[in-house]
Amino acid sequence: MRTEKLPDERGYFGEFGGRFVPETLMEPLLQLELAYYKLKQDENFKKEYEYYLRNFVGRPTPLYYASKLSEKLKARIYLKREDLCHTGAHKINNAVGQALLAKYMNKKRLIAETGAGQHGVATATVAALFGFKCTVYMGEEDCKRQEMNVLRMKLLGAEVVPVKVGSRTLKEAINEALRDWVAHPEDSYYLLGSVVGPHPYPMIVRDFQRVIGDEARKQILEIEDRLPDYLIASVGGGSNSIGLFYPFLEDNVKIIGVEGGGKGIESGLHSASINFGKVGILHGAKMYLIQDENGNVSPTHSVSAGLDYPGVGPEHSYLAKIGRVKYDIATDDIAIKGFYALSELEGIVPALESAHAIGYLIEHRDDFPEKEPLIIVNLSGRGDKDLGIIYALWEGKNE
Ligand SMILES: *Cc1c(COP(=O)(O)O)cnc(C)c1O
Repeated sequence: MRTEKLPDERGYFGEFGGRFVPETLMEPLLQLELAYYKLKQDENFKKEYEYYLRNFVGRPTPLYYASKLSEKLKARIYLKREDLCHTGAHKINNAVGQALLAKYMNKKRLIAETGAGQHGVATATVAALFGFKCTVYMGEEDCKRQEMNVLRMKLLGAEVVPVKVGSRTLKEAINEALRDWVAHPEDSYYLLGSVVGPHPYPMIVRDFQRVIGDEARKQILEIEDRLPDYLIASVGGGSNSIGLFYPFLEDNVKIIGVEGGGKGIESGLHSASINFGKVGILHGAKMYLIQDENGNVSPTHSVSAGLDYPGVGPEHSYLAKIGRVKYDIATDDIAIKGFYALSELEGIVPALESAHAIGYLIEHRDDFPEKEPLIIVNLSGRGDKDLGIIYALWEGKNE
């Protein structure tokens, strides 16, 4: 089956995806789907989206040849520089797209969930840009760990609501955001941050992130006059990775998604949903999910908050199942190695999420049979937000 045509009209990628939601959510989801299909064809909408990507986000982002890393690994390695986007990561691409969608749908208020705060900041940013009210749900535990992002969202005019149930993290924050949306479907728009959730979200978020891969494809053909041998990206919910991968799915290009291996698989403390999860339903969609024997969602761990989610997008679940994309893992330690290596070799301090892709490549270079493979790595974000974590390790290291 041609991947280009998915999801099907019921929102499925093979057996994955769908719309497993209570009756009260059906109506707003169907309205969103209808509006999206219409606006996708709308020239004014497209022009406005492109305008803000160029002038507000700072696109196109460079495809940068990492010469010293390339030399070290005997490869030709290009970095897709999403770290240079306004607000420091790829999440703003989707936030701008969906905020415009909300504007064209005449909504007055944005609702969002956030884990570490990156998507909350992106949403608060576009709310300020387009003049929406904004409410961000964030687990109480995450609010404590990420005080600076809470402040940033408030500076941008958003209301941040700490969620005090369950594990007080992202999973509960999504539930609360959905609850708010059910209560205010008329004036509010739910701006979901990754390629997860019920149909049509995985499709909408992918479509707004595919700009990464569309640009990269054009850029590599211009620079190298051929397609790459490999694409590598980190996989949390899966938005930066599907954004890069999607325009290459029909090509003869090997594709690797890197999940958070946490403290190692034996420890049980990881977030490798495809590698070590089973098919289940979370937040309205069928996907690979980290769960116990009874089907309860298990606690997850990753040194990078952006990968710390028990599920993974339905399209990734499908691409794993049909074998089109290889999904592997990088542990916290390997990611931290990647973090140091890119900082020292290239003068680029990556987000810890992106450092999983870099660390994976360093660790597995010998598994690639090509003498000098041509590789694009998605540098999904910059590392400023992670300096606190690195600082703590650094102190420990020098004691
Ligand atoms: C949120 C985030 C991720 C993980 O989310 P995806 O939806 O899998 O892309 C990766 N990198 C950065 C920098 C992030 O902020």
